[in-house]
Amino acid sequence: MIIVMNQTATKAEIDHVIEKIRQHNFDVHPDVGSNRTVLGIIGDARALDPRDFELLPGVSEVLRVTEPYKLASRSFHPNNTVIDVKSVQIGGDSVIVMAGPCAIESEEQLNELAPVLKNAGAQILRAGAFKPRSSPYSFQGMGEKGLRWLKATCEKYDLVSVSEVMSTDTLELMTKYVDILQIGTRNMQNFPLLKAVGATKKPVLLKRGLSATYEEWLMAAEYILSCGNPNVIFCERGIRTFETYTRNTMDIAAIPVIKHLSHLPIIADPSHGTGRRDKVIPMARAAVAAGADGLMIEVHAEPDKALSDGAQSLYPDQFEHLMKELNMIAQAIGRPLGGMTR
Ligand code: PEP
Ligand code: MN
Repeated sequence: MIIVMNQTATKAEIDHVIEKIRQHNFDVHPDVGSNRTVLGIIGDARALDPRDFELLPGVSEVLRVTEPYKLASRSFHPNNTVIDVKSVQIGGDSVIVMAGPCAIESEEQLNELAPVLKNAGAQILRAGAFKPRSSPYSFQGMGEKGLRWLKATCEKYDLVSVSEVMSTDTLELMTKYVDILQIGTRNMQNFPLLKAVGATKKPVLLKRGLSATYEEWLMAAEYILSCGNPNVIFCERGIRTFETYTRNTMDIAAIPVIKHLSHLPIIADPSHGTGRRDKVIPMARAAVAAGADGLMIEVHAEPDKALSDGAQSLYPDQFEHLMKELNMIAQAIGRPLGGMTR
C-alpha cells in the first residue's frame, strides 16, 4: 500500500501519517519527490484498511500496490530515477556507454584502451577483477591488483568504473576501488550478496539472471532497495533459451517492459547477449532504439589474445564506428549519447 500526500502537506502532517503507519507495526519508506511525498508501507499490508489513512490531514490518496516489488515499481515512484555517478547521469536524457575488456589483464592493457574508449564517447570503464568462469581452470581474474590498476586508470582518464563483486567476502575491498558494483548473472538471486550491496550506498548494476523472469529480476532489485540503497541499474544481458547459435538470447523487449514496470534505469549488454562480435553491433543499435538508458560493451585491443570473452569483444575501431552510429540513433529518438556532449 502507498499513501500519496497532498502537494501542500506539511511536515507535521507527513510525520503524523508515518506515526500512524508505525502504530500498525509496519515500516515506512518515504519518497520525497519534488512536488509530493509518497509513503510506501513495507511488507504485506493487505490487512490494513485504507480508510484508516484516507481521511488523515494532508493525505491525497491511498493506493494498493499489487506488485510484490513495491519500491522498484513505477506506481510507487512515477518519475524516472536518475543515478548520478561522479556527474555521469544514468537514466537521464542521455544514453551512456560502459565499455572495456571482459577481464583486467594488465595495467598496460587498461592504459592503452581507456583513452580510445573515452575519445569514442564512453564514460564508464568496465573490467572484471573477479571473474565468474564456468570452468575452474579458466582465468579467474587479477583480484585486488587489477582493481588498483582500474582505479588508477579511471582517475587518469576521468572515467567512472564498474566491476563485478562476486561475493560478500570481497565487497568491502570492491567498494574501496570501484564506482559501480556489478552483480553478475549468476548472482542475481544471491540474496545475502544483494542485501550486502543494499547496505552500501554504491550504485549497483544488476544483471538479469540466466533464466530469470522480469518479476524475479524486479524482486532482486527490491532486495537492494529495501536494504536502503536506492541506486539500482538493471542490465539485460541475454537469457538462456532453446537457441544455441548465439551464446544467449538477447531480450530487447525487456527494455520497454522494465521501463514500464519500474522507475529504475535499464541498460543493455549485447556482448553477453549474443556472444558473437558480429552480432553485438546490430543488437547495440536495437537496444538504443528500444529506449535503453545505456549500453555495456566488451572491447579488447587484441580479442584473439583475450583471457576471457574474446569472441564477443569488439576491436577498438569497430567500437569507434559503432559509437557514431549509436549517436545518430540516440538523436533520432531525441536523446543525446552521453560522452559525445561532455
Ligand atoms: C561480465 O560482464 O563479464 C559478466 C561475467 O557478465 P554476466 O554476469 O552477464 O555473465
Ligand atoms: Mn565477459
